[in-house]
Amino acid sequence: MKVTVDPELCEGNAVCEALAPEVFAVGNDWQAKVLAPEVPDADRELVRRAAESCPRLAIMLTG
Ligand code: SF4
Repeated sequence: MKVTVDPELCEGNAVCEALAPEVFAVGNDWQAKVLAPEVPDADRELVRRAAESCPRLAIMLTG
């Protein structure tokens, strides 16, 4: 599974980072960065939850 964040939609509220800190980190620019674009199997469920919880629906999952 791959994960990306749409920078046009992300508002940097860090909901994703709180749920999956191994995969997302919000920088000083208030943008979520993807630390692990190829999601480790152990983090798949957390990343799915982060995508569902993102208030801006900025997280895209493929594969
Ligand atoms: S939860 Fe969504 S809007 Fe918030 S920082 Fe993460 S990607 Fe951006």
